[in-house]
Amino acid sequence: MIKDADVVIVGTGAAGLFCALHFTKDTRILMITKDAMDKSDSFLAQGGMCMLRDEDDYDAYFEDTMKAGHYENNRQSVEIMIRSSQNIASELTGYGVKFQKDGKNFLFTREGGHSRPRILFHEDITGKEITSTLLENVLKRKNIEILEYTSMLDIICDDNNSCCGIVMCNKDGDISLVRADYTVLACGGLGGLYKHSTNFKHITGDALAIAYKHGIKVENVSYIQMHPTTLYSEKQGRRFLISESVRGEGAILLNKKKERFCDELMPRDIVAAEIKKQMEKDSMPYVWLSMENIPQDEIRNHFPNILEQCLKEGYDPVNGYIPVVPAQHYFMGGIKVNSNSRTSMPYLYAVGETSCNGVHGRNRLASNSLLESMVFAKRAADEIQGEILSKINKPRNLDDDYFIKLVNYKDYKDIKTLGIKYKTIVLNEIEKEINEIEKGDKIHE
Ligand SMILES: Cc1cc2nc3c(=O)[nH]c(=O)nc-3n(C[C@H](O)[C@H](O)[C@H](O)COP(=O)(O)OP(=O)(O)OC[C@H]3O[C@@H](n4cnc5c(N)ncnc54)[C@H](O)[C@@H]3O)c2cc1C
Repeated sequence: MIKDADVVIVGTGAAGLFCALHFTKDTRILMITKDAMDKSDSFLAQGGMCMLRDEDDYDAYFEDTMKAGHYENNRQSVEIMIRSSQNIASELTGYGVKFQKDGKNFLFTREGGHSRPRILFHEDITGKEITSTLLENVLKRKNIEILEYTSMLDIICDDNNSCCGIVMCNKDGDISLVRADYTVLACGGLGGLYKHSTNFKHITGDALAIAYKHGIKVENVSYIQMHPTTLYSEKQGRRFLISESVRGEGAILLNKKKERFCDELMPRDIVAAEIKKQMEKDSMPYVWLSMENIPQDEIRNHFPNILEQCLKEGYDPVNGYIPVVPAQHYFMGGIKVNSNSRTSMPYLYAVGETSCNGVHGRNRLASNSLLESMVFAKRAADEIQGEILSKINKPRNLDDDYFIKLVNYKDYKDIKTLGIKYKTIVLNEIEKEINEIEKGDKIHE
């Protein structure tokens, strides 16, 4: 079966949804997602979303982002992100997102690596507040269709090696094709490839593997962020995050003897490394986090979700300590894109965590990712819409016979094996790059 769309967007996280909302209401958009539409990492974001507070904060925000990223960030991307942040925040409030306020003014929280509070938040469920509101708005649009439990298995390329759609598979294993003028990959990160990760298990870097398969440029595949503080648990499955804003509001890290051992507000990679070192010294599988410096009302009002989850696991953060351990959390690398999210393949865009525009450098500054996802998703939509309206590209001849011949169905016969193959491609590329870095052979373009 062939389905037609002007734009197909793979992924219903913040990046995919924000992108979809920026097309005109007569653009036929098809969105697909591997799981239920509300099962994306965007829903899990706790701490918040950065916003430039005022002009006086520009230099400090820029420097904090660059410093966290070890100055490997793309300066133009950082500038675009920061300069766009106030517009994104006001668009979000326009859609109905409720950021915490004191009367008419936004309230700001702080996380590691930030020299001042500049993070908008909604309790400790900012991602759910933003993403569910975007989803509600998307569901009201008649021009946008969402297919759940539908996985992209591959992209389809024409004889000019331009993208012209995707191969997808529903939960019954039925394979079908989408013929689209433009394809946007908004598939999130790759935490599902790791045993200990804060990410959903189904987010496994599929778009990256597909990019490698087709020779699409990928950048910094080994730049993987460990979050310093996830709740220690012996249970299998996703690790529960203890947001960095808990430390931003005063929580401290303690060793086995309940002594402080590091500056909790250093960038994530540094704090994660300090914790690992301390765990080795103490021969413990975790360190302690104490919230005793945070007023009890603040814990209950600002962090109700974290409080509830800790109590469920048998720890009371109000009256005691909780065990925390670093876990895989975020992917700074990705499919290489320009500042409008265009990949190296014509008609193919990548947005959000799947993409790499260099904004985060080697290490993401806390709460820059929801913002980055939406800033560059909007830019992708604007560029694509501009091309559609101006008819810059001549219509491609993709009649049914020709289109079907582009697809090698044999490749998709055994989906389980394909999944393993994709996972292996990505893990091998990560290892290869780590080796190159260790040997000093990695080339920065
Ligand atoms: C626990 C947690 C807390 C976080 N807290 C914050 C925070 O406070 N502030 C902040 O800025 N960032 C935070 N982040 C990071 C942030 O949430 C993500 O980076 C961001 O939401 C990524 O959005 P996305 O749209 O790119 O991807 P996601 O939201 O992960 O969405 C990916 C989508 O792609 C779909 N998909 C993947 N592969 C396929 C395929 N093959 N076929 C079809 N569909 C596919 C998935 O089903 C999903 O719909 C946090 C992340 C986690 C995990």
